[in-house]
Amino acid sequence: MNEKALDEITESLLNRKKIKRKQLGDEVDIRVLQSRIIPLLLSPGARDTRFFAGKLLGSAFGKKAADKKGLKEAANIYAKLVADLKFAKPEIIKVSEDETIIRFYESAVASGFENIGMKLDAFEEGFQTGFFSSATGKNYFSVETKCLANGDPYCEFVIRKTTIGEKFAEAFKI
Ligand SMILES: [Zn+2]
Repeated sequence: MNEKALDEITESLLNRKKIKRKQLGDEVDIRVLQSRIIPLLLSPGARDTRFFAGKLLGSAFGKKAADKKGLKEAANIYAKLVADLKFAKPEIIKVSEDETIIRFYESAVASGFENIGMKLDAFEEGFQTGFFSSATGKNYFSVETKCLANGDPYCEFVIRKTTIGEKFAEAFKI
């Protein structure tokens, strides 16, 4: 694993650094994101790959941004990141050890797709799984239970305490 690349991208999420594009700056059209993600999602095995990629980044970000904070503070740090990046309009519905619920309105990935029968935010499930686990020092697992692209009015993630993370870590040696 290239630790330097992971560290740089995590750092840039925390502190907006100057992207070295003199003429184009650091913002891109949302279609860039969607056109590169949706075909990937239709490829075999890609969902799991996106989950684990998200988990890798979420773990690194959680360690750096919220090391061993409580669940409530971690949820606020996460929601601020999502809002700052304009990835979605986040709403924290509930925070508790048993169940934390976060909604995304206007997800950048899923907006514009009318019921295609898929939940598209697998990367975010992984990111939340990694983030909440490393931010709190406990094991959490996120599942996207609703998605704009699945005909729901918003995307919704349910984060529960679990031992699955440890079992995955053992099985995949991560
Ligand atoms: Zn979604």
